[in-house]
Amino acid sequence: MRVDLSSGGSVEGDKIRVISLADWIVEGEKRFGSDKKLWKFRCSHCGHIQSFGDFIELNRLGISPVNPETAYMSCIGRFDSRLKIVGTLNDKVSPCNYTLGGLFCFADTFVEGTDGKKHPVFEWADNNV
Ligand SMILES: [Zn+2]
Repeated sequence: MRVDLSSGGSVEGDKIRVISLADWIVEGEKRFGSDKKLWKFRCSHCGHIQSFGDFIELNRLGISPVNPETAYMSCIGRFDSRLKIVGTLNDKVSPCNYTLGGLFCFADTFVEGTDGKKHPVFEWADNNV
């Protein structure tokens, strides 16, 4: 499948899927329940597992004012200033500073929003991680 990105580029591959926002939310609730703080994602660059709750904690501790919903598209290494070393595109340390909102889109799942655009998202983490 091929997905055209709002940035003008496109991605193509056998594993790529497009899912509606409503269906994506159903998937999240099936895996982790209705409390979205517990929803976990795997960074598509370094494999770091993070939750919306991890990002809420960064806010609570005053470390970063980042929107917790960023957890589905940006690795927490971008925002957690407590980390001494953070991976980059060339240095695959976990967590890293990768974001799906940048130039390189390493995503297999795209959520079609109510705006009709296809937004890349990190894959779900396993339930027991
Ligand atoms: Zn990462």
